[in-house]
Amino acid sequence: MRIVILGGGYSSVWCYRAIRRWMGGSARITVIAPFTDHVFHGFTGEVLEGGLKPEMLSSPLDEVIPRAERVQGWATAVDAEARTVTVEWQGAVRVVEYDELVVATGAQDRIDHLPGLAEHGWSLRSPGRVEALLEHLRWIDAQAPVDAEDARRATTVVVVGAGFAGTEVAAALGRRYGAARRIVLISASKTVVPVWQDKRSLQERLMRNLTDAGVEVLTETRVVAVDERGVELGDGTRIEAATVVSSLGSTVPLIPGLERFQEPDGLLAVDECLQVTDGVWSAGDAAAVRRGGTRVPKEALWAIHAGTTVGRNIARRSRRAEARRFTFRGLGTVAAFAPGRAVALLWGIPLPQLLGWIVRAAFFLWYMPSRRTALSIMRWTVQRRLPIAVPVADRREARPTLVGLAGGRTPAAVVREQVEVDQPRRAAGA
Ligand SMILES: Cc1cc2nc3c(=O)[nH]c(=O)nc-3n(C[C@H](O)[C@H](O)[C@H](O)COP(=O)(O)OP(=O)(O)OC[C@H]3O[C@@H](n4cnc5c(N)ncnc54)[C@H](O)[C@@H]3O)c2cc1C
Repeated sequence: MRIVILGGGYSSVWCYRAIRRWMGGSARITVIAPFTDHVFHGFTGEVLEGGLKPEMLSSPLDEVIPRAERVQGWATAVDAEARTVTVEWQGAVRVVEYDELVVATGAQDRIDHLPGLAEHGWSLRSPGRVEALLEHLRWIDAQAPVDAEDARRATTVVVVGAGFAGTEVAAALGRRYGAARRIVLISASKTVVPVWQDKRSLQERLMRNLTDAGVEVLTETRVVAVDERGVELGDGTRIEAATVVSSLGSTVPLIPGLERFQEPDGLLAVDECLQVTDGVWSAGDAAAVRRGGTRVPKEALWAIHAGTTVGRNIARRSRRAEARRFTFRGLGTVAAFAPGRAVALLWGIPLPQLLGWIVRAAFFLWYMPSRRTALSIMRWTVQRRLPIAVPVADRREARPTLVGLAGGRTPAAVVREQVEVDQPRRAAGA
């Protein structure tokens, strides 16, 4: 049987594993993906904070899907009647035939609805983006500012969107740069992490961790435009910033040939066995998977379980057995802020910060697709002997100020001098 999986993410890898397990050599699997690595988004904060190296987010696809034919390219069209997929890569176009197709192409950052965000915002989803952001910040720090205002803009980072990812990113940057940078986290909702809006104790912990990381949080605030100098807010004021990170959720683009199966926001409609139509299945962020009528969260563990269910169902179909319903109920959610500090809800129970962090770390290492990468993270962490729950202040001191070039005065140095002068003004949120 020819099985084609679109995408190189969580649902794709686990779908591949389930097919291998339940069909062995009877399945000829082709994985079509534009990048050569799987990206483990969960550790984005640790890399931004400096606790892990950027390459520790990556699992080489050749290592994690070794028995699949890997085709590098973008799937640009699907013909569900003819059972073919059109793949484009660097101007070359090829058509791949399938008996069963799995659409596991995930989602893309929602950036087009906000003027200027696509051009000037930093998205962290695709391979190499986290590293590119750190490189951008290093580059900025090597530039000598023309004046104090320019230095303030250079050292200001605005994170637009305060879901789990945005909140972790802001805290990580706050921990990395301490007083050398102003980190502003903007939420259009009443709180950060809106899904926990009504969970007071969790909100208090989130805010305590953000404050400890030196992050300024603006709630009930809308960014209406982004340009090369910063962001414009709904009330007409601006925040001058050389770096704007976009974390405004995700969207699923139209897939030519499958439009009639896509719901209004682009997600592929699937039945309870995760089938889209005859011969086509979907899982992960690209699919409108529901439990009890409610869409499941766009999170890695749901993608992993959905991918596994699709793989098993394809195996069942190959034996003319009934497909099985998707039954995963979820485990909970967690946001990590520093070694030993995470705000977690497991089966609806809030966990103490250290336990939350340990549970998260264990899950993440277990679900890291590449064993080699997981081992390198463990070895690296032990080598660094990261003491748990290092107070933020000590860490800031421990962080070397950035190397100066022209005139020896870096944006950070200029700001520090400025901050000492400006403290009262900043406190007033000016
Ligand atoms: C910064 C960030 C932090 C996150 N942190 C967490 C976290 O801590 N915990 C958590 O549970 N979730 C987290 N998430 C969400 C989680 O990463 C997603 O829910 C998960 O990646 C969904 O898995 P997927 O397989 O559907 O898609 P993905 O893992 O995104 O994989 C999609 C794949 O499809 C490929 N693709 C896209 N278009 C095409 C095409 N046309 N043709 C072929 N291939 C294509 C992509 O290159 C990619 O390989 C985070 C997301 C981000 C962006």
